[in-house]
Amino acid sequence: MRYLPLGFDVKDRSCLIVGGGSIATRKARLLNKAGARLIVVSPEITDELRQLSAGSGGEWYKSGYAVDYLQQAELVVAASDSEVINAQVSADAQAQRLPVNAVDAPELCTFTFPAIVERGDLSIGISSGGAAPVLARRIRAQLEALLSPGLGPLVDLAARMRARVKAALPEARRKNFWEWVFAGPVANRIEAGQLEDAENEILKALRDWQGNPSPVGEVYLVGGGPGDPDLLTFRALRLMQQADVVLYDRLVSPEVMELVRRDAERIYVGKKKAFHAVPQDDINQLLVNLARDGKKVLRLKGGDPFIFGRGGEEIDKLSEAGIPFQVVPGITAASGCASYAGIPLTHRDHAQSVRFITGHLKDGSLDLPWKELAGPGQTLVFYMGLTGLQTICAQLINHGLDQGTPAALVEKGTTQEQRVVVGDLTSLPGLAENSEVRAPTLTIIGGVVGLREKLQWFRPD
Ligand code: SAH
Repeated sequence: MRYLPLGFDVKDRSCLIVGGGSIATRKARLLNKAGARLIVVSPEITDELRQLSAGSGGEWYKSGYAVDYLQQAELVVAASDSEVINAQVSADAQAQRLPVNAVDAPELCTFTFPAIVERGDLSIGISSGGAAPVLARRIRAQLEALLSPGLGPLVDLAARMRARVKAALPEARRKNFWEWVFAGPVANRIEAGQLEDAENEILKALRDWQGNPSPVGEVYLVGGGPGDPDLLTFRALRLMQQADVVLYDRLVSPEVMELVRRDAERIYVGKKKAFHAVPQDDINQLLVNLARDGKKVLRLKGGDPFIFGRGGEEIDKLSEAGIPFQVVPGITAASGCASYAGIPLTHRDHAQSVRFITGHLKDGSLDLPWKELAGPGQTLVFYMGLTGLQTICAQLINHGLDQGTPAALVEKGTTQEQRVVVGDLTSLPGLAENSEVRAPTLTIIGGVVGLREKLQWFRPD
């Protein structure tokens, strides 16, 4: 480690900036965020810098640098456009044992500004000791993406609650309480922008904790997308990394499962057609029980939990049981498969609407509004439609849809094993059999399928 990261409390302390251009302004912005008094020495100065300095209770000396200015400083930044002046400032500051930073000249610095990720009072500094600034900035970009904007308000809330929590709970339990606050429903309320609810949640939990040592957990109903892990949302990823236990099924790809917290317990509750590994009622009950044990439970589903995912039934039970939950949307198979197959679901020349339909056979028959489905100008997307494919195509033709209407099957869409089979209403069932297409497969029917020839782009390995 080349530099030791320290937290410098510059609030209301005089920081001297030598220079008045854009770089000086950038440093001033940072110092200003932390509440510093900005003393600026420079013949010229940007408007922003002048305002920042005046607003901080500081001063602008419209002159060249002179060593006397250091008398007022507790921290010094040499940001003029002259290397000679910067070197002089650095030498003078070091002679007086003042911390000094000189822009773009590490050898003149006794401290550096790291790349900063900031969420309110929470700040993370990243430094490569000058070895690889581009790498430091990349890491900053990654952290920016990973850390929720809600962390700032969360830190604020924690600051406001600190004394209360201290008064209410003995030291031994406070750590657990804060763990719960930062990982559980409070943090999630804040992420969802529900600041007042979050505060009430803390107060209520505090009362509960005073009376009863084990708080309830929470359930995250999360859409895992169609397969490619790059299609997860940031929130999905965040919750996946917080979970104590995960319930998943067959549609969740192994690549997505890889991203679940390593030491989370994994429970497979997958269903295979006509063979229910774990009946839905049991899944619902399991979610309730695990949450009542105080666990953070991740219910991870393929695609979007609210599209043919029975997500509604699962949270219905949770709501009845008074267990906090949240739902995270995922990219549904229709969007994922269509994009990765190069088939736009709507198109001005072909389809003004799109319908998501279940092709799941009940007692071997399909009871669907065929007349409507055979109407013009729409795209039909059948989920779970492989077994009933023959019936679907025949019914659509019987109800007036042109038998030459293009139709496609997308097998394991968005994954490296994606296969697309294209035909029309007459040929598709035969093609499916010859190519031994297997679940999960999505069926897309309509003029838009014809666009694939030109628009396909995804070529799995
Ligand atoms: N909630 C899920 C759908 C569950 S129903 C979602 O929003 O995507 C299960 C059906 O989804 C499968 O039978 C299949 O038709 C479709 N499906 C899900 N993932 C798929 C994938 N990667 N490729 C093709 N079809 C998929």
